[in-house]
Amino acid sequence: MKQFEKLVRPNILTLQPYRSAREECQLTQGVFLDANENPYGSLNRYPDPYQNALKEILSQQKLIAKENIFIGNGSDEIIDLLIRLFCRPGEDRILSFSPSYGMYKVCADINAVQFDEISLNAAFDIDEVKVLSRLTNGNYKILFICSPNNPTGNLLNTDAILSILRAFGGVVVIDEAYIDFSRGESWVRQIEAFNNLVVLQTLSKSRGLASARIGIAYGASWIIKYLNNIKPPYNVSQLNQDAAIKVLSNNEAYDFNTQLIQNEKDRLVADLRILKCVNKIYPSDANFFLVEFGNANDTYNYLLSKGIVVRNRHTQFSNCLRISIGSKEENDKLVNALKSMV
Ligand SMILES: *Cc1c(COP(=O)(O)O)cnc(C)c1O
Repeated sequence: MKQFEKLVRPNILTLQPYRSAREECQLTQGVFLDANENPYGSLNRYPDPYQNALKEILSQQKLIAKENIFIGNGSDEIIDLLIRLFCRPGEDRILSFSPSYGMYKVCADINAVQFDEISLNAAFDIDEVKVLSRLTNGNYKILFICSPNNPTGNLLNTDAILSILRAFGGVVVIDEAYIDFSRGESWVRQIEAFNNLVVLQTLSKSRGLASARIGIAYGASWIIKYLNNIKPPYNVSQLNQDAAIKVLSNNEAYDFNTQLIQNEKDRLVADLRILKCVNKIYPSDANFFLVEFGNANDTYNYLLSKGIVVRNRHTQFSNCLRISIGSKEENDKLVNALKSMV
């Protein structure tokens, strides 16, 4: 742990974090006249700053201790907090892959931290030799890995990631926003083995809770402790904590919906594959896939004219659109529109 704690920015190592009066006294019941709240109303009290009830459920379901769990206002907030925790603006650097999730670069840019990318190979996978030589040469504090990768949809090579974890002296962040849709195994089981590993998950995709903004980081307790020190004190509203607990308590609905999305994905692939305008469908471990069309821009604009919005990825991959799996009715509309496209 000492080996990695020196990665933390000096001003964060010495930071005196904000503590509420309620935290200091540790009372859960009493007369609370400490926070200038209004005594009336139903949402009048500040939420639990450490989301203990929500972490309790996650802890039981994932078999991970609460001190290894951090909750963010979406995983996008955690990406930003991780950069602010480790990277000195104008000095440290971040490494990731291309193409991948766009927020890593945006957050790095906002924090004035240099962001470098290594291209994935032709199979959209990690070129291990290329990465390892960069990791040991650069002044890199964080490496972001997205698996299954957005926007390509595939899981990244396990052996390559293991080599990276063994070789890198910085923090490895594995973003598993789509892991619940995949056949792959989560990296959360590895946080005990690697003190510099952070695994990001989210309730936005597989749990259908994008609106409530619940992101989760699993990692060594020393990292979670610093994240708690730098986060806005009440970063997750009580409404959202309650919504998350409710969704996590209903595994039947989750299993049912996940299966439905999987069935629709198989059906959509079969329906799209036979269309003349479709050249190729890339294999996917997520709830979306990348489709190569004869002409992506024309197809994109045509779908838009029919009120159907997909993600145009033509600038990254020639003639490719990224399509999310919708409900049966939504997918029908997509297929029918494409069938009648001339
Ligand atoms: C959608 C997405 C996120 C955002 O998750 P939130 O928890 O909604 O902020 C993070 N990473 C990847 C790769 C995503 O595709």
